[in-house]
Amino acid sequence: MFFRKKPFSAGIPAVLRACETALSVSGVLALAVFILLPGLAGLAAGTFSGISALSAGPFIPGSIPAAGDGDYIRWVDFDVPQTALERAFRWDVDTVQSEVHIDWVDLLACLGARYGGDFSRYRQAEMDELAERAKNGETIESIAADLKYYPYYREAYGAVLDGLLGQYETEIAAQDAPDFALPTDENGSPVRDGEKVWVTKYGLKAFSPIASGFPYSEYDDFGAARSYGYKRQHLGHDMMGQVGTPIIAVESGRVEALGWNQYGGWRIGIRSFDGKRYYYYAHLRKNYPYQSILKEGSVVSAGDVIGYMGRTGYSTAENTNNIDEPHLHFGIQLIFDESQKDGNGEIWINCYELVKFLSLHRSEVHKVEGTKEWERTYAIRDPAVENYLHPDPPQ
Ligand SMILES: [Zn+2]
Repeated sequence: MFFRKKPFSAGIPAVLRACETALSVSGVLALAVFILLPGLAGLAAGTFSGISALSAGPFIPGSIPAAGDGDYIRWVDFDVPQTALERAFRWDVDTVQSEVHIDWVDLLACLGARYGGDFSRYRQAEMDELAERAKNGETIESIAADLKYYPYYREAYGAVLDGLLGQYETEIAAQDAPDFALPTDENGSPVRDGEKVWVTKYGLKAFSPIASGFPYSEYDDFGAARSYGYKRQHLGHDMMGQVGTPIIAVESGRVEALGWNQYGGWRIGIRSFDGKRYYYYAHLRKNYPYQSILKEGSVVSAGDVIGYMGRTGYSTAENTNNIDEPHLHFGIQLIFDESQKDGNGEIWINCYELVKFLSLHRSEVHKVEGTKEWERTYAIRDPAVENYLHPDPPQ
């Protein structure tokens, strides 16, 4: 899988890079490139099997780790800074249509193995040098030959990052759409008078946990001491803002927990479809914590509004505001084996740098008049959701 070759080959028109990508030249990070592809219906029918292999790879429902296999990762320190995430992401997106497609996680895992996981040693020139070697045709066997722990870092970082980037369809404002995405008039000229159009993109599918337009503050508070209940460490990331701020699903997945928890108050837990990431959103709003359609088992798409910021928690009594400062407690738990879901084997990563990276992509929302709810403005179709709801029959 390393530095996958030509994932978008065979009869697919060249990637069309619209105005968004041109921005990367001037240093602004473009989050995705437009690609000219049929919709998900085409993918489901297997028309472009090369592509569906790319996007479906990590999301096969049957791949959820089983309990008790014995040989699995027990601990992960996720120490990759925002700058390295952005640079690796840029290499991945910029090479998606190239002879050699550089996978951002492969790149980060090489550096992780080189640094022993300590990214305080990170230098962009080292990442660029690895990427250039791959671009020039060097294989992983050669690049990772002296990196004994490469397989560990590939699996560990993949567990954090593999679901965040890929191909998806999204609505965008018609005024921002490239000509090829617009309907045409009788002369074949693009018509730009609709409000939204669907486009296919390759890039960052995941979103910030806080909706666009809502201010928040944060600092790296992972591991800080907490004293409510018992002496323990803070195993997540707090984002301070106003009560009622719409909370966004970072990645698509299935709602695994929804309800009251003594520590988290009103909270939602969402598991990624590959089973490896459990996203924990806590201290949601008193009286109206969640989007009303959600219940345990619901499927959400990245960017959906799932709930509202509040200050519930630190009480055995339900619906109690016992947190002084309104904030979202956001946590990411990694699960390599079901025995790690609850108990002493839990792995919670420091997601501060990752959240800073995700802040580049915030879901636009609008108020649903006559309700207390907000909803996303631009829908997406994530192949991960399609594959979960309609898995290919076993061969
Ligand atoms: Zn917290």
